[in-house]
Amino acid sequence: MKRIRVAIFGAGIMGSSLALFLARNGAEVTLFDRCDQPMAATSRWNEGKIHLGYLYSADPTLGTVRHLLPGGLAFAPLLSRLIDADLAEHSTTSDDIYLVHHDSVVDPASMTARFAAIDELVRAHPDATRYLTDVSDARTTRVTADELDAIAGDGIVAGFRVPERSIDTRWAADQIAGAIAADGRVHFRGGETVVGAAPVNAESGTWQVRCPDGAEETFDVVVNALWNGRLPVDLDAGLDPERPWSHRYRLCVFVRTGSVVEIPSAIVAVGPFGDVKNYNGRDFYVSWYPAGLIAEGEGLELGEPRPLDAAGRERFIGSVRAGLEPLIPGVGRVFDEAEQTLVAGGFVFARGTGSIGDRASSLHLRDRFGVRRRGSYYSVDTGKYSTALWLAERLARELTE
Ligand SMILES: Cc1cc2nc3c(=O)[nH]c(=O)nc-3n(C[C@H](O)[C@H](O)[C@H](O)COP(=O)(O)OP(=O)(O)OC[C@H]3O[C@@H](n4cnc5c(N)ncnc54)[C@H](O)[C@@H]3O)c2cc1C
Repeated sequence: MKRIRVAIFGAGIMGSSLALFLARNGAEVTLFDRCDQPMAATSRWNEGKIHLGYLYSADPTLGTVRHLLPGGLAFAPLLSRLIDADLAEHSTTSDDIYLVHHDSVVDPASMTARFAAIDELVRAHPDATRYLTDVSDARTTRVTADELDAIAGDGIVAGFRVPERSIDTRWAADQIAGAIAADGRVHFRGGETVVGAAPVNAESGTWQVRCPDGAEETFDVVVNALWNGRLPVDLDAGLDPERPWSHRYRLCVFVRTGSVVEIPSAIVAVGPFGDVKNYNGRDFYVSWYPAGLIAEGEGLELGEPRPLDAAGRERFIGSVRAGLEPLIPGVGRVFDEAEQTLVAGGFVFARGTGSIGDRASSLHLRDRFGVRRRGSYYSVDTGKYSTALWLAERLARELTE
């Protein structure tokens, strides 16, 4: 086993899990992030759906499902191993309901056919028993008309029960940050912005990391896992970004209710709609895409949006409720029972452009994320939260075997 010095840029789920896997394989790791703590950005504030691919039913080739599936199925065992904890109490326990809107970019008949094909891929996968629930017999079922009446409102034309689960990302973020603090071989350098990296010595393959204060340090291997900040650093390191790509910033609402609200986790698919995620009866994620998409662009980087003031937060919460409640009326109870309401969000990087309301948009594909390299400089497009651990574990093995 090689004892290498690795610099990792970005302490989200990608960089943090890679740091832990590498350290456990014997590497010496320095983990840089501009935030003061690991797991403080997008990987803390997202929905935590551990994708099996059903949300990408607008991809007729099923290429996205094939790309997402191994990571989704491996997520739970890999995370349990990293943080030494049982995920059962921190993940959803029932199927997600996918509601089809009459303006969805996938009609119910096509969705039925795609879901059946995805079911088959899920069932056939050797890791199907290792998901957050056993999906070796995965079969999406159509929601009956009575059930649909009870859950759905305006414009919803069909519903499906899909065997996907989600994890409470704030809990996971705390556990991962704790594991980093406890691991003496991972040196966390919070409050450090990375601006570039350059090769030092072609023979030894070492790289120098550049921060704005002029500090320069040399490492055997550099891994860029900066997500929204990744492309400018890649460019500096001599790795040209591959077009197309786009960045979006999405705000959402995280609600804790005073008492249990019994409402299924339901998502209006596929297009610019929203969803409600019920983690445990009292903790909820609520999104309304048109209100939450507060910035987007196709430049190398998208700046962090200015935080909302108290009045802006109230207006935002109101617009999320006003958008989603007509489609999923039960979500009104989540807001009525709210004891704590947080507005937060994060960046979405995608190797696609356009609008998710357009069937032809390449944003409906997630079939090209992963690792690129230039010598011992690696750049990782995480793809999704759900694929990070799988990518990290494989890269850690490649770097240390
Ligand atoms: C609203 C929303 C909902 C989502 N829902 C899901 C979902 O249900 N399931 C799913 O699988 N995925 C989901 N995603 C996507 C998922 O959150 C991301 O794919 C994932 O969190 C990216 O992880 P990461 O470690 O690459 O990035 P991050 O967690 O963003 O980590 C990158 C780190 O780099 C740091 N950084 C950036 N630039 C610099 C710099 N120049 N110098 C130093 N540090 C820097 C940041 O501070 C950050 O800590 C969602 C995203 C959003 C926004």
